[in-house]
Amino acid sequence: MTLKDKMNEMLTAGLDLLFPPSCPCCKKMTGDNDRPLCRECHSKLQYITAPYCSCCGKVFSGCGDNHLCGDCLKSSWAFDMVRSLFAYEEIIAGLIHNLKYAGDMNGLDTIEWICAQSALLQDFDSPDIILPVPLHKKRLQQRGFNQSLILAQKLFPNDKKKIRVDLLARKANTQNQTGLSGTERRKNLKNAFSVRNPYKIAGQKAVLIDDVFTTGSTANECAKALKATGAKRVDVLTVCRADKFV
Ligand SMILES: [Zn+2]
Ligand SMILES: [Zn+2]
Repeated sequence: MTLKDKMNEMLTAGLDLLFPPSCPCCKKMTGDNDRPLCRECHSKLQYITAPYCSCCGKVFSGCGDNHLCGDCLKSSWAFDMVRSLFAYEEIIAGLIHNLKYAGDMNGLDTIEWICAQSALLQDFDSPDIILPVPLHKKRLQQRGFNQSLILAQKLFPNDKKKIRVDLLARKANTQNQTGLSGTERRKNLKNAFSVRNPYKIAGQKAVLIDDVFTTGSTANECAKALKATGAKRVDVLTVCRADKFV
């Protein structure tokens, strides 16, 4: 250990004494430097595990193998696969909400830590490019950051060079999707995305990153634009999904 490392370690230990690490959700002291979220809050998280739809990732109740859901048997999505790491409940909803609407970056280490423990990340084997779902430039100016880009950096800490924000753009400043039905969302988002530099997409295995999967309209519209320019595969990874269990 170098002198600098040693000093950093002492400084961290000193700061921990002055400001003991606390859980970003319930604010109680965790008493454990290696655990950014307390055990109680961690136990409330609902990690998604099998069985789920092998295409859209919808969670099935009970046990059994993954298989296609009724929707995926009937309709064809533009994306190839969706995986979401958590069911939507108060802990994950709070962490995402604090990031997205309050610009609070203090929960990011926690998000990285809890996501890294999901076995579903293994389904994203060596993508060529990683594309955060873009915000319209006006929304980006208002918010000051794109939460999907920040989440992409946390979900793929070893593949940051593959994360591209210059290839997919949101043309339309669509109204907020919250509270809209599936049909309204599809209408709201129709042709909302466009691809820049299509030759950089052609033949590529792309992974789209978003915070929440609700009806799939956003991911599907992005995937449509990417497939139209020759993407070989478009998989979708979201931190959580807000649809109901079937
Ligand atoms: Zn807690
Ligand atoms: Zn499905």
